[in-house]
Amino acid sequence: YQGLAGRSTNEVLQLYAAHGQQMKLQRSSVVTQLHGAVKRLKQDLKSLHSFALELSKDFQRQSKTCLYQVLAAVQGIQLQNEAMQMFQIKAFDLEQSLQEVTERYEKEKQKRKALHNSLIELRGNIRVHCRIRPLLPFDDAAGHSISQDRQRNFSEKAAYAADDETVLVKCSRPGHASVNKTFQFERVYNDLESQDAVFADVAPLLTSLLDGYNVCIMAYGQTGSGKTYTMLGPQLEGNLAFSTEEESELGIIPRATQEVFRLISEKPPGSYWVEVSVVEVYNNEIFDLLAKDSYGKVFGVKRDVVTTREGKSDVPLLTHETVENASEFLHLVNKGLQLRVTHPTLVHAHSSRSHLVVTLTITTVVFGDNFGTLWEDEQTSQRLNKEASCTFPQKMRDHKSTPSSRASSPVQLEATEKMKQVKTRLQLVDLAGSECVGMSGVTGAALRETSFINRSLSALADVLGAIAEQRAHVPYRNSKLTHLLQDSVGGDAKLLVMLCISPGQKYLTESMQSLGFGTRARQVQRGQVKKKNFPVLSKGK
Ligand code: ADP
Ligand code: MG
Repeated sequence: YQGLAGRSTNEVLQLYAAHGQQMKLQRSSVVTQLHGAVKRLKQDLKSLHSFALELSKDFQRQSKTCLYQVLAAVQGIQLQNEAMQMFQIKAFDLEQSLQEVTERYEKEKQKRKALHNSLIELRGNIRVHCRIRPLLPFDDAAGHSISQDRQRNFSEKAAYAADDETVLVKCSRPGHASVNKTFQFERVYNDLESQDAVFADVAPLLTSLLDGYNVCIMAYGQTGSGKTYTMLGPQLEGNLAFSTEEESELGIIPRATQEVFRLISEKPPGSYWVEVSVVEVYNNEIFDLLAKDSYGKVFGVKRDVVTTREGKSDVPLLTHETVENASEFLHLVNKGLQLRVTHPTLVHAHSSRSHLVVTLTITTVVFGDNFGTLWEDEQTSQRLNKEASCTFPQKMRDHKSTPSSRASSPVQLEATEKMKQVKTRLQLVDLAGSECVGMSGVTGAALRETSFINRSLSALADVLGAIAEQRAHVPYRNSKLTHLLQDSVGGDAKLLVMLCISPGQKYLTESMQSLGFGTRARQVQRGQVKKKNFPVLSKGK
């Protein structure tokens, strides 16, 4: 309005018209621009729409393909599942038939074993079990005067358990092709089999002990092959006693005692008692390891073995200690064993230098008015009637007023007029090492020791040979060992030889010698093992 001041009306009107014209032109150009923009937007929208359409079509196509693929996969899986189920059914069927076959095989094997056992009983065969111990760190120790090459071979295994009845020995000599030899025994234990497994096969023999049979279990093998481990358990360091700490490591002797007491506990009370003797045969002399001096201290005493009028072997004055349970027995035996390292005449560095014989005598007392008629054979009955004086062990008589043992009740027994005793014997033998030690260079005590061991073991082999050939004369008296074991070896006992084998190549010669001994022992037929005649004792009688 300031610019209009002073202007004429006409000029103002012209200015207004010009301004209006300008505004009109401006508006029309904006409209044109807007129109263009709208057109472009429309085009964009159109192409966007067609793009979206394309995209959705593509998506549909792809999802269809995916769906087909998924369906095909599902179908495939279903087919696979069906096939798998078929396989599973087939596998199950196969498994079942395998199980049936295995069961049948086991049954057949049991039957065969039972038949074999009866055959053994009938023929009076010696049972032979063979235990192959594991390779142990000391097996690596280098031998003397052997080439390096051979030494490397030596720590390798040569003896294996092929199965539970077969030993396989790989005999390889330098420069020769190796030859496999097999040996069959009643039972073969591999290096992993436990003391439990070994005892499981021994336990049935103990049942027959209470049924009236004498039983003898003897370990044979070279030094270090595991005889003492198998019979007693691991030995204590620097001591010939054995460790009683670890139950699972206990050997046959302590386990057999536990089993005997367990079996007795199932019998009517007061009908059994158990006595123990521990004897060592060293340098062909018999030592009573339980003999006591006048102070009551355990003291090894030399004894002799004689043949009685009945032709049985007997050790006069041998100490028999009555034991009432297994732990008392263990204590007693361990005390006897410890003696071996301290007694001047018994000193020898290794337990395998002597034979150890632990004997459990089980006396069964039978009483009643008419028992005489119950005996199967009249002669035995008469003999036993004569024997039936009440010869209870000292310990029993001493404890008359407090009969603590369930094994016997002396008061009750002495009150009974007619009673009988039947003795059965369990002999457990840890033989001296069977290796043939060369005599050259060995002098003095060691030479004496070695030659006595060699002589006693060859006497044992000779005795078995004579029995096998049914010779009229069996040379039991050639050695104190065979004389002592005469009744067990000669047919009056169920005899089990536990061969112990070191698996290393190094010990091949000794292992073959032991396996040969076992094989010959198996062939011995001693005639049917005699049972001590027992009357049938009903419970509570
Ligand atoms: P031997 O009485 O025949 O001379 P040992 O019984 O003393 O032999 O055994 C020698 C060594 O081997 C011992 O150290 C023993 O503990 C060990 N041994 C033997 N047999 C076995 C086995 N089956 N398992 C483990 N160690 C064993
Ligand atoms: Mg030994």
